Amino acid sequence: MSWLTEYVRPRIRTLFTRSEVPENLWHQCPACQQMIFHRDLATNRKVCQHCGHHMRATVAERLAWTFDENAFTKIELPKPVADPLRFRDTKRYADRLKEAREKTHADDAITVAHGTIGGHKAVVALMDFDFIAGSMGAAVGDAIVAAARLAVLQHVPLIAFTASGGARMQEGAISLMQMPRTVIATRLVKDAGLPFIVVLTDPTTGGVTASFAMLGDIQIAEPGAMIGFAGARVIEQTVREKLPEGFQRAEYLLEHGVIDMVVKRPDLPHMLARIIGLLSGKEQQAAA
Ligand SMILES: [Zn+2]
Repeated sequence: MSWLTEYVRPRIRTLFTRSEVPENLWHQCPACQQMIFHRDLATNRKVCQHCGHHMRATVAERLAWTFDENAFTKIELPKPVADPLRFRDTKRYADRLKEAREKTHADDAITVAHGTIGGHKAVVALMDFDFIAGSMGAAVGDAIVAAARLAVLQHVPLIAFTASGGARMQEGAISLMQMPRTVIATRLVKDAGLPFIVVLTDPTTGGVTASFAMLGDIQIAEPGAMIGFAGARVIEQTVREKLPEGFQRAEYLLEHGVIDMVVKRPDLPHMLARIIGLLSGKEQQAAA
């Protein structure tokens, strides 16, 4: 070793690494391709300040944004039989579950928590698209039933944030059974005279759209969210027609009366609080 390799080279290396910009400081907006500083992205709740594009958010982020002062209690959810059909495609379902659990630090594609939103108590169920595309198997069905029961027990509204690719195909017919189960769960809440509010986030499709996700007393969607049953390409091939622009997007569905409102993410907690207040009659009492 000479002075050249020992002294000069490491110094050159430090000079280079120092001038490098850490990768995670800047994010590129997938819609307008502009660069966004990470701090701006966090303050804007993952909404692009250039074009208003709503990026996908994690369950942890949504919990923090939704509840007052980031205070909430997660509930323990039932653990149904894992891999009931011992299913295997290119990979074993058991392995897919394990990978998804490691990636998301959650047991399945849903989290249920309770706390207050704008001073109103509420139970919130949040789906996680990062967990096997937010697919609905027995665990998601069980969680929706548990969330509905908790809402009835606490006599508070139930709010569901949906994000799903549809049924958990690895659970076959068991997965399909979750559709009527979750529908019955929403009935428990409604029969108790409590509001059920749905916030459709990007993307909400398949069996989730075909069950509890469309049964809210108030249907809210985030701007630009893709909401549908079958994919646009499948529909185009079936009806043999070109679909209109913006088909299956939140704004298109609002225009056609499928949903009640499109709410920007930063306005969402306030809007939820307002709706709960109105539906529970507390807002009129406060005004009187
Ligand atoms: Zn953008």
